[in-house]
Amino acid sequence: MTVADLHRAYRDELLAHGLLISMGVDGLYGRSGTFEAVVEGINRAVGAVGDADRPEVMRFPPGIGKWQLEQSGYLKSSPHLVGTVHSFTGSDSDHRAMLDTLAKGEDWTANQRTTEVALAPAACYGVYPAIGARGRLGAEGALVDCYTYCFRHEPSVDPARMQMFRQREHVRLGSEDQALAFREKWKARGQAIVSSFALPFEIDIANDPFFGRTGRLLAASQREESLKFELLVPIHATEHPTACVSFNYHRDLFGQAWKIETADGATAHTACVGFGVERITLALFKHHGLAVGRWPQKVRDVLGL
Ligand code: ZN
Repeated sequence: MTVADLHRAYRDELLAHGLLISMGVDGLYGRSGTFEAVVEGINRAVGAVGDADRPEVMRFPPGIGKWQLEQSGYLKSSPHLVGTVHSFTGSDSDHRAMLDTLAKGEDWTANQRTTEVALAPAACYGVYPAIGARGRLGAEGALVDCYTYCFRHEPSVDPARMQMFRQREHVRLGSEDQALAFREKWKARGQAIVSSFALPFEIDIANDPFFGRTGRLLAASQREESLKFELLVPIHATEHPTACVSFNYHRDLFGQAWKIETADGATAHTACVGFGVERITLALFKHHGLAVGRWPQKVRDVLGL
């Protein structure tokens, strides 16, 4: 079996058991009540650890302002993953023409124009402009708990590579020391949380699929400077584990993009930890079986199931 065969087989199994609901597009699925109960359990487990730090809670819609996407720098590194929201902007006759082409089964999207809304590429993208707009940080910096649906245009039969999925994140904004200390703390916490789910994992330096020539340079510095670590869980095959949690240090990238300053006027550094809640859910179903009632009791206890 190839890896693609393994992906397809697991997806078909999840669809057959009703845990995922087909929407006719690779990477776009409905979730059953059982699937969502596991997702909520993971969120509770993350909250049980992270709430002790009393983060500020922010919940954003799955869209960000197109201007926010532009200012974030994401278009430089990952244009191929971006989703922008389009809407019809034509006249009455354009509308009739659109319905004609639709009826003929042809491309009806000619009069679709981009709106002011883009889809969030990561849960933390709403946080930086919000904090930046408040003015200079206090000495303690800022700590935010955020959670939203994200979009990445990478259609795949791998159920762990969805186009729309949720990230639960904690985001730290402050000095370089504060950002790095946060990342180290969450590297330990992330491993403890996933251990409590009785899942096998390893930690590795990430290799993001940045786009083109600029992307190759970014990928090289990401590796060399160890900016991003991932917690990888084997879902389909041990030799191709799936990143389920990421621990990111952005240096002053977002501090510069959003003019975020520390108490002493320096450009803020930022870090975030992101839990891919669907991926962890899929790993749990893979390792403990599709019937939650038969999962190890200690795992059900942690998840409140
Ligand atoms: Zn993030």
